[in-house]
Amino acid sequence: MLQDIACEVRGHLGNGKVASYIPELKKVPKTKFGMAVHTADGVEVSVGDAAEPFSIQSISKLLTLILALCRGGDEVWERVGKEPSGTPFNFLAQLELEKGVPRNPFINAGALVVTDYLRQKVGAVAPVVRDYARVLTGSDGIDVNTQVAMAEFAHAHKNLAIAHLLRTYRTIHSDPSTLVREYCNQCALEVSCSQLARLFLPLAAGGFSRILGETVMTERIVRRVNALLMTSGVYDSVGSFAYRVGLPAKSGVGGGIVAIAPGKCSIAVWSPGLDRSGNSLVGTLALELFAQRTKLSVLG
Ligand code: GLU
Repeated sequence: MLQDIACEVRGHLGNGKVASYIPELKKVPKTKFGMAVHTADGVEVSVGDAAEPFSIQSISKLLTLILALCRGGDEVWERVGKEPSGTPFNFLAQLELEKGVPRNPFINAGALVVTDYLRQKVGAVAPVVRDYARVLTGSDGIDVNTQVAMAEFAHAHKNLAIAHLLRTYRTIHSDPSTLVREYCNQCALEVSCSQLARLFLPLAAGGFSRILGETVMTERIVRRVNALLMTSGVYDSVGSFAYRVGLPAKSGVGGGIVAIAPGKCSIAVWSPGLDRSGNSLVGTLALELFAQRTKLSVLG
């Protein structure tokens, strides 16, 4: 099935725009396409460039949220909401109107709050996120691309503005510049589709990691994270994404998307050309085809 999907999307490769606001990401060819599926009962399949590591960017927000919930329970919800934002991921005005409380943990403001929260618990966040990804995939090679992180930080004026606004409202405690540097590091983690599908398999398996042979997050966390992915995981196109794909998912401007079919499988796709909202154009199409064929989504 993955081979068929790869054939069907081929004609669309090259469409969309790469995230040029992070200069290093401009260099990645738009024709890349990879897809991997890991089932809850242990089958792993992949197609195309599924073994090639890419910049996970916003998908790292899913890792920091899971870590924050695992370490601190519901405490983090005192500082960030659970509603879709309906605005672009780095929109500033909504934050001011809503007195410094971000709508959800997947827009940049919310992710900065989660990273700030984690910094208080664990110190430097990026190495903890990297090690978590290494352990849950069983791949020691996963790392942060420091060039991508530095290139993003050099242009991070909007994220710095968001962090300063958060600091003004005391939603964060860290120095804004230190926090945004940390955030750029976590976003610059490079992971392949095969590794991503493996990494997030516990969200499709009631919290159980097949790699470790143990439960790594409670079912309560799994259910809640999947709900947030459904309502806020793909920027301001959650509605049209649900309409087409119908699965909880998190995307990143590196062109990756991770989707969860609860109880069944995790799916990762990568193709760098992005649509208007910042989601992988071909990746969304591939997930739409997958959901249609497997009937694993809420769309039936
Ligand atoms: N590091 C990116 C930013 O903050 C992540 C955005 C994304 O992938 O949505 O702009």
